[in-house]
Amino acid sequence: MDSVESNALRLLSLIVKAAQLDAHQHAERHDLLRQASALLWWLEPESPPRTIADLRSCLSLPLEQWLDSRFRQGYQGALQFADEPTMLCNAIALETNPRVGWERVQQIVKNVRDLCRTRPRGDDEYRLFRMFLIEHGVVDADRSLDFLIPLQVSFNSLYEPIPQHLIRLGQVYLCPGCGWPMEIRRHAVSCGAHWCEQAVGIFQWMDDDLVSVRTAKVIPPHPAKNKYRLTPPLWTFTLIPGLLELRLRDGISRLGVSAELWPDVDQADLRFTLDDRTYSLDAKVWHSTKNLGQHLASTPLTDTVIVIPDYQTQYLHTLDEQCLPRQIMSESQCLRWVKKLCQR
Ligand SMILES: [Zn+2]
Repeated sequence: MDSVESNALRLLSLIVKAAQLDAHQHAERHDLLRQASALLWWLEPESPPRTIADLRSCLSLPLEQWLDSRFRQGYQGALQFADEPTMLCNAIALETNPRVGWERVQQIVKNVRDLCRTRPRGDDEYRLFRMFLIEHGVVDADRSLDFLIPLQVSFNSLYEPIPQHLIRLGQVYLCPGCGWPMEIRRHAVSCGAHWCEQAVGIFQWMDDDLVSVRTAKVIPPHPAKNKYRLTPPLWTFTLIPGLLELRLRDGISRLGVSAELWPDVDQADLRFTLDDRTYSLDAKVWHSTKNLGQHLASTPLTDTVIVIPDYQTQYLHTLDEQCLPRQIMSESQCLRWVKKLCQR
């Protein structure tokens, strides 16, 4: 990574931290934005330095309106809405900071995985655990989660209270794509995942109803009382890619090939065998393919094929260059590839 690249990442990290602070943390925010202003001037010496007040108002503007594309890592959208950090803001924090993001998820998942590997029915128990997370973006506090006890994973490491700004008149509105509470205060309502915006579209308020722009269907509200949501890192790195994993499994099954999710307690996301040869797939759904590329380039090389969503097909070429000799495909490409393997 060159110094422009690493300083651009540092700049993103500073403005994201500033956007995540509570409204009353003025001094901390001032300090972060002061550092961001200095760094931005270093990156763009030909432009006049930005004032802290200017940067402060930029937090609620789409990044692409005020930050050069060289410094954005492919992110688009605003970091704040009505003084609250947006899901995009949280996604950037998770994707650019491994310690709070995928490393933390890996640790939780790894603990369960290690334990399951020592248990007689561990393979099934592990699959049940992963499937539960994908199917439960939100849970009721009084729901019995007894299956977690033998896996030694605490409820609080998986779920957290739903933030107040996602609750309206005591109700939450769950994303039809992933089941997580949506960001209801935005003009274009969604859960914040590009995956879901592509899969189920966005939603808008019509009087007191939240309505799908694509299908005109009304999203039913659910009482927020006693409800908890999956933590943002698990939602980002387990639930959302899990939706791609399920779609790949179904697509491959339709070709007449049986594909297994998380085989041998998570040796891969998906595995199938054709003509005595075994193939492994890993599904990755990141906001920034550039940061995904950096993540992949820093992890040990395996012959697992990486699969990304179709809506990111335009970034495949750059990702390939970043991660050679790793094989990376879009969902459609992957299914065409499996079809070809079947015809051999
Ligand atoms: Zn969603």
